[in-house]
Amino acid sequence: MTDLTNYPPSSQWHDWTELDAKAWPGKVERNYALVPTTCFNCEAACGLLAYIDKETGEIAKFEGNPEHPASRGRNCAKGPATLNQVNDPERILYPLRRVGPRGGGHWERISWDDALDEIGERLRTAFEEDRHNEVVYHVGRPGEDGYTERVLQAWGVDGHNSHTNICSSNARIGYQSWMGHDRPSADYANAEVIFLISSHLESGHYFNPHAQRIIEAQSKGATIIAVDPRLSNTGSKADFWLPTWPGTEPFMLLAIARLLIENGTWQKDFVERWTNWETYLRQTRPDLPVEFDSMEQALLDEYAEYTPEAAEEIAGIDAETIREIADIIGRHPGKLASHTWRSASAGNLGGWQVARCLFFLNVLTASVATEGG
Ligand code: SF4
Repeated sequence: MTDLTNYPPSSQWHDWTELDAKAWPGKVERNYALVPTTCFNCEAACGLLAYIDKETGEIAKFEGNPEHPASRGRNCAKGPATLNQVNDPERILYPLRRVGPRGGGHWERISWDDALDEIGERLRTAFEEDRHNEVVYHVGRPGEDGYTERVLQAWGVDGHNSHTNICSSNARIGYQSWMGHDRPSADYANAEVIFLISSHLESGHYFNPHAQRIIEAQSKGATIIAVDPRLSNTGSKADFWLPTWPGTEPFMLLAIARLLIENGTWQKDFVERWTNWETYLRQTRPDLPVEFDSMEQALLDEYAEYTPEAAEEIAGIDAETIREIADIIGRHPGKLASHTWRSASAGNLGGWQVARCLFFLNVLTASVATEGG
């Protein structure tokens, strides 16, 4: 009799026997080798264990890998469902070359050697004839760490298209403008305030590893603020659900920013050390001395119109709630974890300002590269 455990202990992965659930009510034992692998149904790349039936050599199922440092054995439903891709009768297993007119739907099987030779020849001819702009690379979701980009650049090709260009770029440019890095990953596990905009926990993004840590942080006392016109999964779990009018998120964020400055709860030392405030003052406020003490007045003037009352009028969130949220954020310096993912950025004109304004709150509260920020 085996003890009931959540996962087979790793010491037994090479030789694991359990009852076949599909054979129920019969009690049929199956012997497996459990092979660690990775789910790539989203970029979180959670760990999976492939249960290889030792008798047939086939994958019987996928379960979570408890040894994986990010997913820790927990996956969303898409992880175990990877088996459907392995067994999909329409899965493409070898290179195919189009036969007949484009869109005609006719293909012939060719060898890898033929495919690589033909593609290589076409690329080479294009480069020799200086037609680099006629080469475009499309990838669904870039899952590697920039290697392909370097190859394309070495070839002199800048034609790159991906899912990210449409979905992510507006948010990324907002982050890029702050710090030259377009994809921060907040430390939700140690945060005390978690501020999420758009798609959330287990609704396509905030992948399972993030979702685990966000809810763990909430169970330790963190406040979750979810901005989304929909009552999303996260909205329903959040301490504050803010259904802003789509496209007005930046206005509300700047109202919160202004309150942090007005309330004196912004972290001046951080802003002084890490932002280019001198340039800002020189270019926008020649009437003020270029010294950090001028910044408070300059920022209050700059954001004068962003009052909670104006935010209520424009974004549809009542002024008192905005004040309450600014108060909570201001009481947790260094511990604000935030992210926008991504519809508020991608779906609205000027949406790149969403990430920019949201990260402004991180900067004002010194929640950048901190434990919990
Ligand atoms: S969050 Fe789900 S889809 Fe994404 S890698 Fe993990 S198990 Fe796969």
